[in-house]
Amino acid sequence: MNARRIIAALFVDLGEGREIKKGDRAGQIRWDRLPRARYECLLCGTSEVPDGRGPGDIARFVASIRTDHACGPLTEQRAA
Ligand SMILES: [Zn+2]
Repeated sequence: MNARRIIAALFVDLGEGREIKKGDRAGQIRWDRLPRARYECLLCGTSEVPDGRGPGDIARFVASIRTDHACGPLTEQRAA
């Protein structure tokens, strides 16, 4: 087993939503509580949040933040 250091934490709140079954908005989601996300880097001490508040913004953020986060110490570690 490899010893791994925890270098970052990604918090995701999936929110609460229900699919609308009937009417003009059928198939869309009605959100009672919107999804949220926050990324905290323990190496550089910063936290990042999505640019927008829509469910799509949150999903993109969660998918890409680990590679998008520009972190000095981590980059140096990778190069070593
Ligand atoms: Zn960082």
